[in-house]
Amino acid sequence: MKRIGVLTSGGDSPGMNAAVRAVVRKGLYHQVEVAGIYHGYQGLIEGKIKTMEAGDVGDIIQRGGTKLYSARCPEFKTEDGQRKAIEQMKKQGLEGLVIIGGDGSYRGAMALTEKGFPCVGVPGTIDNDIPGTDYTIGFDTALNTVIEAIDKIRDTATSHERTFIIEVMGRDSGDLALWAGLAGGAESILIPEENYNLDDLVERLEKGKKRGKKHSIIIVAEGVMNGNKLAELIEQKAEIETRVSVLGHIQRGGSPTARDRVLGSLFGARAVEVLLAGHGGRAIGMRNHQVVDYDMTEAFTEAHDADMSLYALSKELSI
Ligand code: ADP
Repeated sequence: MKRIGVLTSGGDSPGMNAAVRAVVRKGLYHQVEVAGIYHGYQGLIEGKIKTMEAGDVGDIIQRGGTKLYSARCPEFKTEDGQRKAIEQMKKQGLEGLVIIGGDGSYRGAMALTEKGFPCVGVPGTIDNDIPGTDYTIGFDTALNTVIEAIDKIRDTATSHERTFIIEVMGRDSGDLALWAGLAGGAESILIPEENYNLDDLVERLEKGKKRGKKHSIIIVAEGVMNGNKLAELIEQKAEIETRVSVLGHIQRGGSPTARDRVLGSLFGARAVEVLLAGHGGRAIGMRNHQVVDYDMTEAFTEAHDADMSLYALSKELSI
């Protein structure tokens, strides 16, 4: 291959810029031209494509979001949209593509690969919900943002001797809630992977109060229900007054942690190696601290399992 492209798609995540930088510079290292495609699949269809020099990806490793911008592009889900994208790539002399995004973006990458245009996927999402990889780029930064928020809310919770419910992101995955709950010392964690038991939750709150606890923190993953709904349910059950904090989009932004920068760099570089070796339809991931590449269809057919040992441990520790 002489010329490849890179794009970011779907929800942005901190560390995507490190991955883009790695793709561009690893390509240049192999004397391959790398084109940046702006605004995800939408930009691919519209031909928003620019050849990147080493300097074009300078000063971005420390920045959140994505310098290439991201977009949701319904048109790309259609045959017509994909045909337009392939026409653009041919016109631009692109021979392969690195796609950084979540599972929706992977589906697009698979569609192009099946049409004879090799794509490699790099997992970029704060939700950590992509099957086949232990971690996705952005999860660690989001987790640290959530922890910071929990710590701050805890100050108020203690001062006013209150119970706080904190709703965190994660779509259908409980990873962010689970890790944040354990690291933040939450009294209860509700995740989609485990049926919640309201009686147990209330009992824990009451027991804690009797023991002299000044406050309680409950973490609820958005995939279970929203925080206000949980507050209602608790109030109906036990007349326990709660305060709700929905962290929202602050979880998506911010300067990436060292871990996400390293992950982005490792994944981006590996994606170029895989593409240049002529393999399309592969996804990059981390398994047991090793960077791996695997059949991208696994990301659709397998499930991402939360580490339930964290859940069990959190219950043991938050007595
Ligand atoms: P994420 O990649 O973060 O999961 P989305 O699910 O919104 O985000 O997907 C990003 C983009 O990927 C969509 O806007 C669309 O252009 C493309 N995409 C999603 N699903 C498909 C699909 N089944 N076939 C082709 N392209 C898809």
